Amino acid sequence: MSKKEQQQAGPKVMDMPRKCKGEACSKKDTRFGFCDEHYMWYKEGLINKHGQKVLDFDKKMQALERRKMKSA
Ligand SMILES: [Zn+2]
Repeated sequence: MSKKEQQQAGPKVMDMPRKCKGEACSKKDTRFGFCDEHYMWYKEGLINKHGQKVLDFDKKMQALERRKMKSA
């Protein structure tokens, strides 16, 4: 396999310019395909690994906001 063919066969994901998977988010991916904020959302279960909002997103967001206000 020539060098060129190797590049075409398997581009490494790491070499691709990546963006946050969050909806309408144009920030750069900093961890696991998300920006810092959306990674937090993902960790809190507000969005799935594809960056899509979960069914009870609003409920979870409210709970998160409440927690943030308490800790602030
Ligand atoms: Zn984002």
